[in-house]
Amino acid sequence: MTARTRWRPAYIGVGSNLQSPARQVESAIGRLTEIRQTRLVRASSLYRSAPFGGIEQPDFVNAVAAVLTRLEPDALLTHLHAIEAASGRERDDARWGPRVLDLDLLAYSDREIATPGLTVPHPGIGERNFVLLPLGEIAPDLVIPGLGRVAGIPVNMDEPSISRIA
Ligand code: ATP
Ligand code: CA
Ligand code: CA
Repeated sequence: MTARTRWRPAYIGVGSNLQSPARQVESAIGRLTEIRQTRLVRASSLYRSAPFGGIEQPDFVNAVAAVLTRLEPDALLTHLHAIEAASGRERDDARWGPRVLDLDLLAYSDREIATPGLTVPHPGIGERNFVLLPLGEIAPDLVIPGLGRVAGIPVNMDEPSISRIA
């Protein structure tokens, strides 16, 4: 790690719908502060959202955190997976199914990444109110490659309902 390595902004989506979801989300945001070479800058309010993807399951609690990091995106994702695992999440949980903790790397600086294990910006951003609302709260002027300024991305009125809870 050289002294010249830049601190770059990254945005992390946090979600839970098992085992006291609000507590899981708050605890995960706290654990982001423990990632090496990374600083927590802001965290959004917590939002409650109806589940997405057609699986019968409890409502989710969601939030978005902004960090500054000197880690490369793949290294940051490895830390996010470690925090998920420490929460008790089983890695074979169904996609879009219930989970104790889900941490998605939504955006990393102005990078666009398309590798088998990592797509950045996260492809769900433009379709998910549970990302757009908390992200718009903490970073309305952020420009997402391919989508433009966060505050200019339309909220989806036909998506399940969402409300701010804390
Ligand atoms: P979605 O990604 O649609 O929100 P999910 O969060 O339920 O679905 P997971 O089961 O948590 O999906 O993750 C599946 C895989 O997605 C992970 O193994 C991870 O490598 C990959 N992945 C690709 N891009 C990203 C990203 N930007 N953030 C987090 N994981 C990503
Ligand atoms: Ca996700
Ligand atoms: Ca995920």
